[in-house]
Amino acid sequence: MIQGQMQGVISVALLSRPGLMDSMKALLARELPGVTVSSWPEAAARDAELAVCWKPEPGALAAMPKLKLIHAIAAGVDNILSDPTVPDVPLCRIVDPGITAAMTEFVLWGALYFHRDFDRVISNAREGRWQRYDQRAAKDVRVGILGLGELGTDAARRLAELGFTVSAWSRSPKQFAGVRTFSGAAALDAFLSETDILVSLLPLTPSTLGLLNTARLSRLPKGAALILCSRGEHVVMDDLVALLRSGHLRGAVLDVFEREPLPAEHPLWREPGVLVTPHMAAIASWEAITLQVAENARRLLSGQPLLNVVDRARGY
Ligand code: NAP
Repeated sequence: MIQGQMQGVISVALLSRPGLMDSMKALLARELPGVTVSSWPEAAARDAELAVCWKPEPGALAAMPKLKLIHAIAAGVDNILSDPTVPDVPLCRIVDPGITAAMTEFVLWGALYFHRDFDRVISNAREGRWQRYDQRAAKDVRVGILGLGELGTDAARRLAELGFTVSAWSRSPKQFAGVRTFSGAAALDAFLSETDILVSLLPLTPSTLGLLNTARLSRLPKGAALILCSRGEHVVMDDLVALLRSGHLRGAVLDVFEREPLPAEHPLWREPGVLVTPHMAAIASWEAITLQVAENARRLLSGQPLLNVVDRARGY
């Protein structure tokens, strides 16, 4: 039914901080002949049918009366749905093998960083301290993944291939060969109590906001470590720091923060046991993003089902 109404051309608005998506303009023109591309808050952006977004200004999407599709440029859509005025049109996200591969690399690195004591030997090396630690086999290290979606599934599989004992927690029950699965809020404490290295790959929704607080993080065994690749808001950072300082937790790799970039003066940069990385775990290329946005634009024009549509009720 959409077919015929839009006559084969589409107008696209880019909504983000100034300049962020500029490289998409030429790529969209290449993929969608005749497309008009504007950047919010230009007047033409208000008349666009497709909004391509990263942290759009609150209220901006609601001020686009012709809007038919909102497209994220990332896997997560919390940066869009945090605005309660977002209109009820389809919302699509990026699902890309390149993002998945990059995230898996980061998670494997993080698991090995703790498992092979790099967190300790890197600081020992700065002080010229020759110290070896007892080695454990990977099978004796339990890696638990929060979220068994596009990213968690691949990370779980590759961690299991490396020999780690892997478990995962999701909202709905799942079967996964070689991975112990847990689902639902009632199973979270049991999952955490059997996890030596916790990896967060959850979407940020009202149900996962602040999930990793003192009560939850205390369920992890003494000496456990955290790899946070999801969103900063999943962790109550003061609770995490208190558990690191008390010695209950061994360390944390933190890739994401409530406020980004993390200010240079923020104490987390210098907190012993914490390694801050600059939201770098998995970044899609503009080429990959553009190809998916263009494919969904063509589908919108021809009335075909859209790809990677977000369930607005679940929030991911
Ligand atoms: P996804 O495919 O939507 O998977 C989300 C997983 O989380 C699903 O397994 C889902 O359970 C589970 N989940 C959601 N809410 C839950 C809840 N309340 N309780 C238990 N489990 C819950 O997402 P994805 O593509 O894997 O991406 C995950 C997140 O990674 C993104 O939302 C983003 O925040 C983050 N990310 C970070 C970077 C980075 O560079 N740091 C890059 C890309 C993505 P069901 O399977 O039962 O639905």
